[in-house]
This record gives sequence, C-alpha cells and structure tokens, in this order.
Amino acid sequence: MSKLSIRDLPLNGNRIFMRVDFNVPLDDGRVMDDTRIRETLPSIEYALRHGARLILASHLGRPKGKPNPKMSLKPVAERLRMVLDKELARGENVGFCPDCVGPEAEEVATQLEKGQTLLLENLRFHAEEEANDEAFAKQLGALADFYVNDAFGSAHRAHASTAGITKFVPKSAAGLLMEKELQYLGKALQNPEPPFVAILGGAKVSDKIGVIRNLMGKVDSLIIGGGMAYTFLKAQGQEIGKSLLEADKVGLAKELMTEAKQRNVKLLLPSDHVVAMKPDANAVTQHIGEGQPIPEDRMALDIGPKTIELFSEEISRARTIVWNGPMGVFEVPGFSRGTFRVAHAVAENAGAISIVGGGDTVAAVHAADVADRITHISTGGGASLEFLEGKKLPGVEALTEKK
Ligand code: AMP
Repeated sequence: MSKLSIRDLPLNGNRIFMRVDFNVPLDDGRVMDDTRIRETLPSIEYALRHGARLILASHLGRPKGKPNPKMSLKPVAERLRMVLDKELARGENVGFCPDCVGPEAEEVATQLEKGQTLLLENLRFHAEEEANDEAFAKQLGALADFYVNDAFGSAHRAHASTAGITKFVPKSAAGLLMEKELQYLGKALQNPEPPFVAILGGAKVSDKIGVIRNLMGKVDSLIIGGGMAYTFLKAQGQEIGKSLLEADKVGLAKELMTEAKQRNVKLLLPSDHVVAMKPDANAVTQHIGEGQPIPEDRMALDIGPKTIELFSEEISRARTIVWNGPMGVFEVPGFSRGTFRVAHAVAENAGAISIVGGGDTVAAVHAADVADRITHISTGGGASLEFLEGKKLPGVEALTEKK
C-alpha cells in the first residue's frame, strides 16, 4: 500500500483522531448489533497499546445536519465501554463528548491521557461534515496530533472527517481495518491470481455497469445472476416475462457481451430459472428449464438448479473470487437457494482468495453460515463497489503517501 499505516505513526503520548464507522443499528437507544464496533478493535487496541490518547469519531444515520437525540452516539459509547472492558480490560477509560467540535470537545481532548479513549458525538449533527466544510475540518483537526481513517465504509465520500481534516494534521494514515480492505481489494484488482472469477448480481444493471466495465479487462470469467441478468437475457432475444428489465440498458448489455467475447472473458448467465407471479413467500413457484421461455405473467426470482451447477463449477476452478450482489430475491425463502448455494460454492473453494462485498451479499453469506470460510468480507458496501469500479476513494486519496 502506498499510503501511511497507523503502524507508521508516532502514537506514544499523541492525540490520535480516528475516524471509525460506528453507524450501528439502534432501537430505542439500544445497540442492536455491535459488529462494526468490534471490527475496529484491532486499530483501537493497537493505538492504546502504543500509548495513544485516542479520539474516536463517527457518523450515525442521517440526522441531516442537526442534533437528533435518536441518532446520538451516547449508547454506542456505553457499548464500546463494555466491549473494551471485556476484550481489552480498558472499559473504564472510555469517555463521551456531547459535541464533536467546540470548546468542550477541545477541553476534553486536551485533558485526555495516554491509554484513554474519547468518543465524540455524531459528526453529522453538523451540516458542515457532509459539506466537507474547511473551517469545520480545521476544528476537527485541532483536536489531535495525527489522523487515522479506519472507516472504509465512508471512504468513498469526501466529508470533513474523511477528507477535509487531513489538511489540518501533519500526517494521516490508514487504520488496520482500512489497510486490510485496501490490501485485499487492491490485490484482486492489480495482481489477481488467475483464474479470476467475478460474480455480480442484485437488482440493477445500472448500479453495476462501472464494475462490469472495470472488471472486464481483469477477470477470466464474469458470472451474472440476480435481477440484473434479465436485461442481458433480453438482449440475447430471450422471453423474460415480467422479470426485472432495464429497457434502456438492453443496448449496453449487448455491447458488454460483445466486449466480453472480444476480450476472451467467459460470460455466464442464468440458463434456467425459478419463477413466480410475485416475490412473495406464499407464491406458487415454477421451474423454467433451459431454452424455455419465461411465461408472460411470471418473473424470474432465482436461478435454477442447472445454473447453480454451472456457476458452482466455474467458482470451484477460481483462484480469485469477487462477489457482489445476490443471485435472486434471497430475502424470501422460496427464492434464496441460488444465492445460498453460490455462497457455499465460494466457501468450499478453499484454495481461492474470496472477497465478498455489498450489504445484501454479506448478509447472505452470514445467513448461509459460511462467513468464516470467506477470505475477506468487505465492511463497505458503496465503497467496495466504487473501488471495484476503479474509482479513487477520496478518504484513501487524502491519506499521506509513504515516502
Ligand atoms: P442490489 O442492491 O442491486 O445489490 O440488489 C439487491 C436486491 O436485488 C435484493 O433485495 C434482491 O432481492 C434483489 N434481487 C435479486 N435478484 C432478483 C430478481 N431476480 N428479481 C428481483 N429482485 C431481485
């Protein structure tokens, strides 16, 4: 990685402003899932062990630039205290500041001692955060000696706490979680071990065009499933019934298929389907075999068994796998089989580096109970997609270059 890592910073005795992603689900002030807190533990532990005075900052929800008690990070500070107590025996040293800038934040940040942690209130209580306001970024920067970004999930946004702040500290570095994301995703794009198989799914072709374009020059095989596959099948002249279709993307789908041929990329599309009148748990389902038209009043909601076999075989030969997007409406039990079987196929290929990204796909991998056999599960849905599109992430770009 060309950017500084937290390992390159002089942490001892210094105040470290660490941007984390504590955007956790809350229900009536209770943290419902603390995965995101736990994912930052390696960086927190590393900083504290090396004598940092640690200031953590995050956004939570969409308070639209105004304080909103329902989106306060106070309950998150309490959970952080519990987690640090249990995992690192450091819970008693966690403080909370009811604003992320201003006199009180400055005072507590100054008083913070080595080995202590301070969580600031929701950054998005100030509209200046998302506006990447320079004066606000300067106020954030004034709290600390150095900056660390461990919030990969927010790195595709140029906000004050992800980009602007870096102008007001002498050095900015990637946290351990951020570093891990960049290493896995970076290697897959720059130096993948072949065969490289990308699996794309989900509802919309339009969301994945950039990814398809960027991956086309790098992958050996491109597997396309889920709702987005039907625009491609339509472009091949198939009857797709009421399946998802982006009519204005049919031409583009044709172009991409031609490009795949020219570049010698194997493009795999569903050949059989599970269809129903609607994506409903009680809907009567029907299997449409290879070469059969999908009836006019039915929509394809999952890939069929032949397709599962075809995709699984391709996946089993891969040495590098990137997967983003479900193969069907996996949230509904009758249409989850394709996605879960693909999840198993990815997990069973123990010789491959497998990278899974996107909220739905990550949820599917957990629901299929194979998460522990995936090499890397990305914590950033939008960020990982933009990375796969080959875009530069502002939160990464802003970090200090390694000399
Ligand atoms: P995305 O956010 O684009 O990754 O899409 C994820 C959504 O696509 C999930 O909610 C799935 O239910 C949905 N999806 C996947 N396959 C299909 C399909 N064949 N028809 C309709 N929706 C689908």
